Amino acid sequence: MSDWDLLLTEARIATMRDSAPDYGVVEEPAAMAISDGHIAWIGKQSDLPKNRANDKRSMAGRWLTPALIDCHTHLVFGGDRAREFEQRLQGVSYEDIARSGGGILSTVQATREASADELFEAALPRVNALAGEGVATVEIKSGYGLDCETEIRILEVARRLGEATPVDVRTTLLAAHTVAPEYEGNADGYIDLICDELLPRVAEQGLADAVDAYCESIAFSGPQVARLFDKASRLGLPVKLHADQLSDCGGAELAANFKALSADHLEYTSAKGVRALSEAECVAVLLPGAFLTLGETQLPPVDELRTNGVPIAIATDCNPGTSPICSLRTAMMLACRLFRLTPEECLAGATRNAALALGLQDDRGTLEVGKRADIAVWDISHPRELAYWTGTPQLAEAITGGHITQP
Ligand SMILES: [Zn+2]
Repeated sequence: MSDWDLLLTEARIATMRDSAPDYGVVEEPAAMAISDGHIAWIGKQSDLPKNRANDKRSMAGRWLTPALIDCHTHLVFGGDRAREFEQRLQGVSYEDIARSGGGILSTVQATREASADELFEAALPRVNALAGEGVATVEIKSGYGLDCETEIRILEVARRLGEATPVDVRTTLLAAHTVAPEYEGNADGYIDLICDELLPRVAEQGLADAVDAYCESIAFSGPQVARLFDKASRLGLPVKLHADQLSDCGGAELAANFKALSADHLEYTSAKGVRALSEAECVAVLLPGAFLTLGETQLPPVDELRTNGVPIAIATDCNPGTSPICSLRTAMMLACRLFRLTPEECLAGATRNAALALGLQDDRGTLEVGKRADIAVWDISHPRELAYWTGTPQLAEAITGGHITQP
């Protein structure tokens, strides 16, 4: 019988195991053993085998859930858009803001002007804010550089954030976020630049775990995205897609065709698009922060996603323009309030299904033997509270890869 590194007893445990009812709760009091950073045993405390534990701690009735996963953020950028936010509320029109240099291109300019250190220092508190509410894995996209040099700098900064914090950072190349200003009116030329120059460099340097694009009438067409995804697939990189956010442009079908890890936003996705996602086992990532900020009224097809068995993930979409939200708990609350998701669907969306959206389902997202010991310990009476309260300091402790990392 091997020794355990850490044994947690007197716990209440929501495993969030797939298809387990009622949050996958283990009968109380529950216990969990950790060895080599992974879960070695989990179950009813009275069934605990007699292994020796090097460290033993009582959880005193606290709740343990899988650590949270934010599977869609753009949290590395220069500047912010608070001035524009204020102007809009003072009645200045979108056109006037755009004419005075506002909008996404103002973030692109500020990001290009920022050094790697400046981008790192600005993003670090955002990563720490997520970690402080129990997030152990964060996906970070590029997409505010729109040139080879800056896109690579963003990905390098994202990797550095993962090294400097207990958070595991997954990076995504989103150079196809919008057409670079140098290529105005020539989106095809910009896609050529990404396919021929940027993507091969990023792949060679191992800077991205996935490739993303924004498929929309104001960004890139289906055929342009397909060209990019073909190239990514040839380089062995999985793809994800910003799809059907402002109109139904067949984004869900396109993502499904390329066996994308996820299709994100989906407000305008048709019934046909939902069936395509289901057949391709593609995760639907819903982003209520952007829906709220943009004052959208078209709801994503939540009922169709449910009846077709499409896994639903929830993320912050943390970005300076359309979702200045650095709290996954807030995104969960918004998904309940705006999209009518249940608290259990939200917690699955920020754990198990978020892992699926990053291709990490074999390694994390639920509390099961063999998975990484990424655990959030909560001062709550029930896990349904995680989508109910916001702004409450309920994280008692975070265990990441078997090590206590918070507080
Ligand atoms: Zn996004």
